[in-house]
Amino acid sequence: MLSIRQLNKTYANGVHALNDISLEIPAGMFGLLGPNGAGKSSLMRTIATLQAPDSGSIHFDGTDVLAEKEALRRQLGYLPQDFGVYPKVSALELLDHFAVLKGLTARGERKEMVEGLLHQTNLWEARKRAVASFSGGMRQRFGIAQALLGAPRLVIVDEPTAGLDPQERNRFLNLLARIGEDVVVILSTHIVEDVTDLCPRMAMIAGGRVLVEGRPQDSIEQMHGRVWQRVVDDTALAEYQQRLCVLSTRLVAGKPQINVFADVQPDAGFINVAPDLEDVYFLQLRATQRNAAHA
Ligand code: ADP
Repeated sequence: MLSIRQLNKTYANGVHALNDISLEIPAGMFGLLGPNGAGKSSLMRTIATLQAPDSGSIHFDGTDVLAEKEALRRQLGYLPQDFGVYPKVSALELLDHFAVLKGLTARGERKEMVEGLLHQTNLWEARKRAVASFSGGMRQRFGIAQALLGAPRLVIVDEPTAGLDPQERNRFLNLLARIGEDVVVILSTHIVEDVTDLCPRMAMIAGGRVLVEGRPQDSIEQMHGRVWQRVVDDTALAEYQQRLCVLSTRLVAGKPQINVFADVQPDAGFINVAPDLEDVYFLQLRATQRNAAHA
């Protein structure tokens, strides 16, 4: 269990990136969902002990993370958002090198782990190729192989699916889903489907604050019966947006289809639809934007 209490961070430029963040994160996949600039990377870097908060505490099982950085690092696997430039060495050599850095000095054990991870991430066939020549999806899978060295008990992956095509994304999420059940895996993303497809628990954050936390299904159920949908004319769209709580607009056969949040049917053209996590997300973001506008 990872316990985060009242974490605050203000950068030198005055941005309050973490605003009283408190989260309880049990073993399993945990989705951290938020738009760009929400504070996801700041939070991940803080948990990974790469930067210090101004105040607050983080505990991972028995470890006081902020006081015992080394103890946390020994249990941590981290895939940062930007993994950086790869040297022109093969995937096998590079992974072996990372394994040595991670303290896996026994040769036999290291070989077994490195080869096992290359199989697990479906990179065995490509092991002799330079990582620099890999596609985006292969690089991310290599990033996971690197993060899983030494069997970490806390795994943090920061926006790993951004920029992946649907097939690569699926492959990558399947890989994450197979990480052991007793490991805490935190996946940060701005893609709602990543959380829907994969995470039994989640938190939505924006403006450095936690908006909701818990089981996606619970938040979805709270909107039950209050999401309405209709196709509208282009010319009427602005008026609907002004008059109603429009959660999202998407084009269906070239015409805008809107999802609206309302206790009762807004007009006869609307049908009631089953809410999904995207409706929850847009409702939360809308509330945050309103609060910001009125502040
Ligand atoms: P996310 O990962 O959700 O996109 P970030 O944690 O990267 O969010 O950023 C949160 C806010 O903090 C943004 O407004 C960003 O511009 C700002 N920020 C992030 N890192 C720094 C930094 N090192 N110095 C100053 N501002 C930063």
